[in-house]
Amino acid sequence: MTEVLRLKIIVTGGAGFIGSHLAKNLIQEGHEVYIIDCLHPYYSIERKRKHLTNIESHGAFHYSDLNLLNQDETMAEFIRIRPDAIVHLAALPGVAYSIEKPLEYVDFDIKATINVLEAAGKAGASKIVFASSSSVYGNQEGPFTEEMAVGKVISPYAASKFSAESFCHVYEDLYGFQMNILRFFTVYGPWGRPDMAIGKFIKQLIRGEEITVFGEGRARDFTYIEDIIHGIYLTLTVQTNSDILNIGSGRPITMDTLLQELKQHFPDMKINKETSRTGDVLKTWADISKAKRQLGYEPKVDFKKGLDETVKWAKENEVFL
Ligand code: NAD
Repeated sequence: MTEVLRLKIIVTGGAGFIGSHLAKNLIQEGHEVYIIDCLHPYYSIERKRKHLTNIESHGAFHYSDLNLLNQDETMAEFIRIRPDAIVHLAALPGVAYSIEKPLEYVDFDIKATINVLEAAGKAGASKIVFASSSSVYGNQEGPFTEEMAVGKVISPYAASKFSAESFCHVYEDLYGFQMNILRFFTVYGPWGRPDMAIGKFIKQLIRGEEITVFGEGRARDFTYIEDIIHGIYLTLTVQTNSDILNIGSGRPITMDTLLQELKQHFPDMKINKETSRTGDVLKTWADISKAKRQLGYEPKVDFKKGLDETVKWAKENEVFL
C-alpha cells in the first residue's frame, strides 16, 4: 500500500466558497489544514462563518482570523506554521465591484499576494498554488490556451490578477518555489458565491423575483466546484513542474442554455434583459488540454447535473442565500 504523505497546507481564503470546499477535501485526505481568512464583508460574514462550521464537521483544522495585508502578522504566522504548501485563494473577487473600487483590488489581490509570497519564501514553503482567473484572457475568441493571456484585460479585477501572476513569477525565481498558477473558469455549485450569476438567479427565483440578465449572446465555461477542487488537489499531489494551467470545464454554456435549464426548475421564471455591463467579457472557453496532460485533470460533472445539485442545495439552505 502506498502511504499518503501528510502535508501541512495553508489555505488562504479558506472561509470562502472555493477555500471551504478545498479545506474539507484536504482534511478528508489526511492533510493538516491551516486556514487564514479575515472574513471580508464582500458578502455575508454569516455565510463565511457557516462555511467554517461546515468544514469542522469534516475534521479538525487550524484557523487564523488574519488580514494578509498585514505584512508583519502574515510573516509571523507563516514562520510559526512552516507549511509545506500554500493554496492562495484569498482575494477580492468579482468584476463589477472592481470597477467601483479598483484600489481595493490593488490591496487585496496584489499587495496581499506579495505578502503571502514573501512570507512563504521566508517560512521555507516549497509549493505555491495561486488562484488566478479566466478574466486574464480579456475579450478574445476561445478556446483560450494559457499563452493567450497577454495583459489585454478589461476590468480592474482582471488587471490585478494578471499583475499578481507576474509577482508569482518573480518570487518563484527568488525562492525556487514550485509555482502553479491555476486559472479558474466561473465556478458554481453548493455554497457558490451569492454575487455570481447562478447564485444570484437561483436566490431570486426561489423568492419568486424577476431575474436580470446582462448582455445578449454571452457564454461561460461554467465549472462545477468538485472539478475545481479536483484540479487543485492534483496540483498539490501529482509530481509536476511550475506552470500556468487552465482549470475549467472546456464546455462553454450560453446564457440561453442556462436560462432554459433554470426554467426546468422554475417554470414561472420572469426575465428582464439589459445591455452588458462594463468589464464583463462576452465569452469564456477553456482549453484544458495542458491540465489534462500534466495533471491527468478531467472535469467530471456536466452542467445539467451540476445545476441540479446547486438548485437542490439552494432550496435546502434558503436561509444562507
Ligand atoms: P470568496 O470571496 O468566496 O473567497 C475569498 C476569501 O478570501 C473570503 O473568505 C475572504 O474573506 C478572504 N480574503 C480576502 N482578502 C483577504 C485578506 N487580505 N486576508 C485574509 N482573507 C482574505 O471567493 P471564491 O469564489 O472562493 O474565490 C477564491 C479565489 O478564486 C479568488 O482568488 C478568486 O479571485 C479566484 N477565482 C474564483 C472564481 C469563481 O468563479 N469563484 C473564478 C476565477 C478565480
